[in-house]
Amino acid sequence: MTNRSRVAQGADLEPAQRIGRLSRRIAKAGLDALLVVHPVNRFYLTGFRSTEGLLVVHGDGKAEFLADFRYVEMARKDIDPAAARVRLFQDAPRSLGAMAKRGKWKRVGFEGSIPVAQLHRFKKALPGVGWWVESEKPILDLRARKSRFEQSLIRRAARLGDEAFKRTVAEIELGMTEWDVRRILRGWIDRLDAEGESFGCIVSVGSNASKPHAHVTRRPLRRGQVLLIDMGVVLDGYCSDMTRVAFLGKPSATMRKIYDIVHDAQLRALDAVRAGRTGRQVDAVARRYVERKGYGKYFGHGLGHGVGLEIHEAPRLAKESGEVLEPGMIVTVEPGIYLPGVGGVRIEDMVIVRRDGCEILTQTPKDPIVLEG
Ligand code: ZN
Ligand code: ZN
Repeated sequence: MTNRSRVAQGADLEPAQRIGRLSRRIAKAGLDALLVVHPVNRFYLTGFRSTEGLLVVHGDGKAEFLADFRYVEMARKDIDPAAARVRLFQDAPRSLGAMAKRGKWKRVGFEGSIPVAQLHRFKKALPGVGWWVESEKPILDLRARKSRFEQSLIRRAARLGDEAFKRTVAEIELGMTEWDVRRILRGWIDRLDAEGESFGCIVSVGSNASKPHAHVTRRPLRRGQVLLIDMGVVLDGYCSDMTRVAFLGKPSATMRKIYDIVHDAQLRALDAVRAGRTGRQVDAVARRYVERKGYGKYFGHGLGHGVGLEIHEAPRLAKESGEVLEPGMIVTVEPGIYLPGVGGVRIEDMVIVRRDGCEILTQTPKDPIVLEG
């Protein structure tokens, strides 16, 4: 049995439960139906991947998946009938119109991420609907709390990320460019059998590392610089995300000092992660420490973000985040200090939130990596 089919089997149990939970939320909000078009949300709720299709979740616990000719045979085979009934359609607005008439729909939910033009077509096709309600949050909330099965998939993605990083670091030599390092990294991600990168991985050296999301350049790696690598893989649909910094030979006193501050801030924040705390509270632990050390204004981004089917999802660990952490959520913890024109340090791990703390998924050591090559 291949990995993929084993995953599909394990996941079979989940879509029906997810749709059941979502349907209860829809009924509570007084909606007749919720229209789901975002490919990631559709995949999460049906276990079926397609570039197009429309999932209609009703308030009575039922759901229908409208698939076009290209996908209908696969969808009928792969979607658990307990989750959603698959129907062939030619024209989504027309099929929806008939459905709305039969169900006498008055209030319909839609995702905030739906393309405006598509929402406009839906509205035209459903003239009897008087209330259109933005309702993506219940889906995002469900996605934020990972089941044990999803946790095991993300744990494996994180391991594979660690492995790709380790093998890449072993091949880095002074004189290579940022692009060379990125090419090696992508090669390992492919060879280790991941589906791909979870985002365009960042490799930045020297002063380029002072830009948190630097573009990769043909700048060469020189002795005395810091090298920042922020990378992730996708495995069975789930993302990993980690950042480490390596010193190319002996670092400057400033960069060494900054590394220690970021490292300490990260350890303190990891210690602070637990169910019941808000994203703001955990962010504040790292931020206050960096501020006390005099570098507050150089830590200009949030402490972390949720990771799952997408690289950035709920919840956020940030100054503005009132989201409450719950057991099973998976977030990154990634403080950083960036000195313009000099360089930057960020250290990032992925963790699973537990009732009394967290499980750290990223295994790559955090003692500074020194490359002498
Ligand atoms: Zn990252
Ligand atoms: Zn991240």
